[in-house]
Amino acid sequence: MASDPKVSIITGAASGIGRALAVHYAARGDQTVIGTFPGDPHDPEETLRLVKEAGGEAVIHEVDVRSTPSVNRFAQRAVDEYGRLDYTVANAGILRNAPLEELSDERWTEMLDVDLTGVLRTLRAGAVHTGKGGSMVAISSIAGGVYGWEEHAHYAAAKAGVLGLVRSLAVELGHRQIRVNAVIPGLIETPQSLDPVNSIGAAGLERAGRDIPWGRVGRAAEVASVIGFLTSTDAQYVTGQPLIVDGGLTVKMRA
Ligand code: NAD
Repeated sequence: MASDPKVSIITGAASGIGRALAVHYAARGDQTVIGTFPGDPHDPEETLRLVKEAGGEAVIHEVDVRSTPSVNRFAQRAVDEYGRLDYTVANAGILRNAPLEELSDERWTEMLDVDLTGVLRTLRAGAVHTGKGGSMVAISSIAGGVYGWEEHAHYAAAKAGVLGLVRSLAVELGHRQIRVNAVIPGLIETPQSLDPVNSIGAAGLERAGRDIPWGRVGRAAEVASVIGFLTSTDAQYVTGQPLIVDGGLTVKMRA
């Protein structure tokens, strides 16, 4: 166990990559505020159980990244519970399928409110409580972060926007020695990608995995450990950077 436990807030930590990250921090003996979105079916108690099993401490806190007061209360919870905040991880996201002719202003706004403005709200609230040496990570995607994705223009635009946000906040918060980076996951098996309507589903993941140089799609824990690296002092001179975690998917040339 680390001698100096770090305190983190993670949005969307009742499932997928967020849950895996809470467990990753727990294995280091850290303390986490598990952000859970009540509108979703994911069970935050399962994250809490895994955290305790791994040797960490956590509390569950309901947060909706569409609401500034809700996100501000979420960041405050870390201070109230553990007396400090070291790592802020803007992980929450939604994915929706929308061909251009169905991409209404409402659907565009709904997507950006969660996947881009929600990231701003989270990093902004985290920055209030973060001291020198703290760090933040936002989750982008190869959709938008690297590629275009048909019928997902709003998602890709939000995820591309995350990179500009991260670079700018890295510059702005650098003088306080707070680092801000992005992780760009490739295809990772989580509830989001397993959704066959809005994403590619189990069969699509299986098919896509065969074309990935590593031979399969990624696991949530394989993204979590990279977020863990970026927030840690092992990466203390890295800021404003996007880091792709994709098993080689984006470097493979397709003729
Ligand atoms: P996931 O669906 O398990 O996790 C997303 C989480 O966000 C859920 O727990 C959900 O409850 C939460 N959430 C949704 N709306 C919210 C809101 N308004 N307020 C607070 N929380 C909200 O899927 P995941 O794959 O673990 O997603 C984590 C992040 O990784 C997302 O930003 C996603 O876009 C990104 N990502 C995933 C993949 C992939 O292949 N799985 C690839 C690239 C990027």
